[in-house]
Amino acid sequence: MRVALVCVGDELLAGDTVNTNAAWLGRQLGERGVTVERVSVVPDQVADIARVVNEHRAEYDAVIVTGGLGPTHDDRTMEGVAAAVGSEVREDPEVLQWLEEEGGYTRDDLAEGTADIPAAAEMLPNPEGVAPGCVVENVYVLPGVPAEMKAMFEHVAEDFAGQQRYVETMTVDEPESALVDRFADLRERYDVRVGSYPGETVRVKIHGTDRGAVEDAAGWLRERVDLAE
Ligand code: ATP
Ligand code: MG
Repeated sequence: MRVALVCVGDELLAGDTVNTNAAWLGRQLGERGVTVERVSVVPDQVADIARVVNEHRAEYDAVIVTGGLGPTHDDRTMEGVAAAVGSEVREDPEVLQWLEEEGGYTRDDLAEGTADIPAAAEMLPNPEGVAPGCVVENVYVLPGVPAEMKAMFEHVAEDFAGQQRYVETMTVDEPESALVDRFADLRERYDVRVGSYPGETVRVKIHGTDRGAVEDAAGWLRERVDLAE
């Protein structure tokens, strides 16, 4: 399963907020064997959200959108997603009912637009906050606030499944350029993928769907490099 993430927010583009939602979702999905193949960060603009969601939903099995929910003027995600799927936002009776019964709000407490989701969508309740999320076709819309986003992802996590992947990591105390030949040799011998992430040392990540191959490849490489630990 291939997934794209769309993170909405001017504050992400400005660098005022670090995109921890993408990092968290990447790890969660990776653990489920689902590959995140794109992370797009878009401004709080309906047209940008609609265009990117539309492109990604055509190309990937699912799209997860975070941020820009709720009734304030800069929360445009529901409109953007509605436009992407050819629907329109409307006040959702199920959302209103949930907010009244579970949220303890009366209709008069709620700012106009709080219960709006695309007409074609199913709502996702937000147990940690007010603004609901939704699922429409293969697009999952979650809040931006990390605690709310995480709680709501748990509701839909079962929809995200892929082949179990195995990972081995090691830290190597050699320049990355010196490792090129050994990586090439490793890839020829084993059906695995190798990532190398240089810093003061080089972090090496070997992963694949065949557990034995990943373990053997890691063992083979460990014997042939200077490990930092
Ligand atoms: P609310 O209903 O509270 O308005 P929301 O879903 O509309 O939530 P945003 O308004 O986009 O979310 O963002 C609310 C806050 O959540 C931001 O100020 C920021 O602190 C945090 N946030 C938003 N997106 C991200 C992200 N991708 N990674 C980490 N934090 C984020
Ligand atoms: Mg908001």
